[in-house]
Amino acid sequence: MKAGSPIADSLRASLAELQQQAVRARPDYATRQRWLDGLQRIVTEHQAEWIAALNADFGCRSAVETRLAELFPALEGIRLARRRLKGWMRPQRRGVSLWFWPGRAAVQPQPLGVAGIIVPWNYPIFLALGPLTSALSAGNRAMLKMSELSPHSGALLARLCERYLGPEVVRVVNGGLDVAAAFASLPFDHLLFTGSTRVGRMVMQAAAANLTPVTLELGGKCPLLLAPGFDMARAAGSIVAGKLLNAGQTCVAPDYVLVHADDRDALLAALRSAARRAYPRLADNPHYTAIINRQHHQRLLAWRDEAHQRGARVEVLSDEDDASLAAACKLPLTLIEQAPADCAVMREEIFGPLLPIVTYRQLGEALAHILHQPRPLALYLFDDDRARIDRVLDATVAGGVSINDTLLHVVQEQLPFGGVGHSGMGHYHGHEGFLTFSKLLPVFRQSRLAGTALIRPPYGQRVQVLLR
Ligand code: NAD
Repeated sequence: MKAGSPIADSLRASLAELQQQAVRARPDYATRQRWLDGLQRIVTEHQAEWIAALNADFGCRSAVETRLAELFPALEGIRLARRRLKGWMRPQRRGVSLWFWPGRAAVQPQPLGVAGIIVPWNYPIFLALGPLTSALSAGNRAMLKMSELSPHSGALLARLCERYLGPEVVRVVNGGLDVAAAFASLPFDHLLFTGSTRVGRMVMQAAAANLTPVTLELGGKCPLLLAPGFDMARAAGSIVAGKLLNAGQTCVAPDYVLVHADDRDALLAALRSAARRAYPRLADNPHYTAIINRQHHQRLLAWRDEAHQRGARVEVLSDEDDASLAAACKLPLTLIEQAPADCAVMREEIFGPLLPIVTYRQLGEALAHILHQPRPLALYLFDDDRARIDRVLDATVAGGVSINDTLLHVVQEQLPFGGVGHSGMGHYHGHEGFLTFSKLLPVFRQSRLAGTALIRPPYGQRVQVLLR
């Protein structure tokens, strides 16, 4: 998108207006609380509209999942920010070395100005309101770019932000890839991008031209490691829940499972029964979310077929006919074993209900498999042996970890959230989110009684003594 195109010009004009607002009025505590109250009402007073918008975007989006995985965590984040805001805003005293005593030092968090937030389609409410909570609590204005694949949620957010926050605080932009590219090129004071690693690279390049700092919340393949002899029935329930939430279209979904070869049969049996229990029907089950569009549905089928043609064992956990599943744009949990390493399901982030299962004999082999892949956004470990848990945590690097469950570290609002390496950089949620969108202003206050004259020129005997 060239500067000077109508889209780029109108986005620039919008940003310039917000920047003027940011300079004119730095929001105090009461103003920020009012903004957060607006965010809270966007969630609490419009639940039915959100459920309908998400359902329209996905074709079928479980209403329970919309509440559980979007509205609930978004609200938790807003409530935490409201409770903690005063403490977060308070300047923090820091120690002063003896030489500068009795001067005083403190760190004072300040708003950066205007934040840009780019949102993917898979959890458009949570992934818009989560970063927005951090940005507004830190006293920034914000512009959001919603995904072209979730237009109903995008339109609803635009309408509700206009009503509860106003265009002098937040603006929501909807549109296609040309709008997205123009948006990433704007000179924001901070840009938080959530999406794929591929697009994250482009966003970081665009931001570099403006020296805009970025937080990148990206994707990748999240491993799930089952310790030898772990109770497979206990693990299977949470594997199925984590993999099939939003039909696997979750950045922190377990991408593949590593299991000890001796436990493989027990795992498969446990997964079959857990999947049947969780979703007895798929095509007409309103609690089983559809794949976002035909293109992604086709992509997943093509990856499954490729693995099958290349000798993998593929087990589709459903007896519903392909035509009715395809008509509903749904895909059953599909177990894939012995897929060659260069198959798409073994190389790429799956983002759907295909589940490769990889067996190991020694724990070291399983760790080597994890370390061979780019650093993941999440790592799941099922184990009751503390020493072995520590060994795995020491040997690996991941964005976040849940032990003996899936996904749940993400909804702990007091924990920071963010990737590492190819799965992203920086953090948000809770206090870390506030800090991400703040300038930490170091302030030194000199005392009348200061002895710093000793270190000023002309440099005489006394400074030489000090430096000795
Ligand atoms: P995507 O990267 O295709 O798109 C994300 C957003 O970027 C969309 O709003 C899109 O319009 C915009 N975009 C596209 N091209 C752009 C460009 N050139 N410049 C700026 N913006 C551009 O991702 P997606 O398909 O919407 O979402 C799925 C991916 O997001 C998966 O990889 C998933 O793991 C990742 N994800 C990560 C997290 C996280 O918190 N780390 C959360 C959800 C999804």
